[in-house]
Parts: sequence; structure tokens; C-alpha cells
Amino acid sequence: MFRRIASELRRHVLFTTLGIISGIIILALIFFSNIPRQIFLLASLALLADVGSGLFSLLPRFRGISTRYVIAFSAGIVISVALFELLPKANSEDNWALLGAGFFIMYLIDKGLALHQCGESECEVTGMSWVAILGMSADNLLDGVALAVTYLTEPRLGIVVTLAIIAHEIPQFITSTLIMKEQGYRLTRIIVILLVAGLVFPLGAGLGQFIPTAAHQAAIAFVAGVFIYTGATALMTEAHHRFNWLVMLFLLLGSLIALGLKFVE
Ligand SMILES: [Zn+2]
Repeated sequence: MFRRIASELRRHVLFTTLGIISGIIILALIFFSNIPRQIFLLASLALLADVGSGLFSLLPRFRGISTRYVIAFSAGIVISVALFELLPKANSEDNWALLGAGFFIMYLIDKGLALHQCGESECEVTGMSWVAILGMSADNLLDGVALAVTYLTEPRLGIVVTLAIIAHEIPQFITSTLIMKEQGYRLTRIIVILLVAGLVFPLGAGLGQFIPTAAHQAAIAFVAGVFIYTGATALMTEAHHRFNWLVMLFLLLGSLIALGLKFVE
């Protein structure tokens, strides 16, 4: 197993180099900066959730399970975290431009780089290209930065945002993994891609500390725009290819859980 991963790493020099550079930067940030270590812990949780959900989707038992309920559930969480947690702290009266920028930049990443892959059988599978992997990593970098900024604003907010990140990454990594498998990628190659894309979380979290405190509200407005797009546009439409009561129920359940967190100190 390890030998196959090693040979896979050797074959994809660019990818391996990127992974190693990210790893070195992350370690340097952990040891030489005074960013709270909890931020890296939360980012590592997101990394674990990514790799874990990707691998879980490869289990034979997983086949046939519809991902639409997971997608609906995560849409509910992401939308509600944006509406109930981020927007009230974003000072959108001043930061309206960043709020809009977050929404439309996410739209460009999503549609331009085919980020939210369609895993359900009724929609066309676009394939897992380098561009898609790049888009996935760009999104993860952004999520990592968002995690750091919100945690530095208020640790509770950082934890809630981590939950929203994990919630929307799980369906994304499940579909990406299924597409890679369909394209005949070997397990080792899939693991390498999942790992490198996941490493971008702690990298983004480490870089997030360089955003000055004065710009945190503006950054939160941007993240709110990103989350509104991801939840209300990408995930919600993906869950609702066909009319389905259960999908609506799962979406509202996700919303309620996020709403409940509002009252947890
Ligand atoms: Zn994301």
C-alpha cells in the first residue's frame, strides 16, 4: 500500500511538490506563528472529514445510496450559518461589495471550474479534470482562511463555520471521489488527490492569520457571500433535481441544527 502511494507520488511530481510545499508552509506556520493552535486542529478536522468521506464513498456498501439527502442536509446548514451567524457579524451596510463579490466569485469558481460535480445518475458527469481539482483546492483554501478569520473574531463562530465547511465538503468530496473512480483512477491516486486537496485547509487557515483584524468584518462579509452561493445555489439545486419531500425535510433539518447552534454558547 505505502509503496504504491510512494510510486504514485513519484509519478505526479507537480502534485507531490505542491503537497510538500503546503506541508512545509503549514508546519512553519504552526511552529513560528502565534496563531491559536485550535485553528489548525479545526482545519485538520476538515481535512479528515474530506479524506474520510471520500474513502467511505468507495466502500461497496455505499453504492446505490443517494447522496441527495446529504447534499440537502448540508445545504440547510451552510445557508443557515450564512444567514444566522455570518451576516449579523459582517456589517453588510459597509461591506456590501464584498458580500456580492463572495457570491459571484464563488459562482465563477463553481461554474467555471466545474466544482460541484454532479454525482447523481440523472445529470451529466463532467469528469474530474485538473481544472476541477484546482477549483476544489481554491475552495478549500478559501474555507481555511474563513475558518481562521472567524475563529479569531470569536472562537464559537470559528467552530460553527468549521461545521458548515465540513457539511458542504463531505458531499463534494463524495461526488469527486465517485467520479474519479468512474474514470478508472486507482485507489492510491484517489488518496493522493484527496490528501493534497485536503492539506489546503490548514494552509488557508495558516494564511488567514495575515488578514489584519481591521479587515475581519469585511472578510466575514465575503465568506457570507460564498456560503450563500454554495448553500442556496450550488447545493440546493443539486439536491433538488426532482421533487422530493424527503429532500426538503433534510434541508430544513440542517437549517434547524444550525439555528440551534445559535443558542449554544
Ligand atoms: Zn468549500
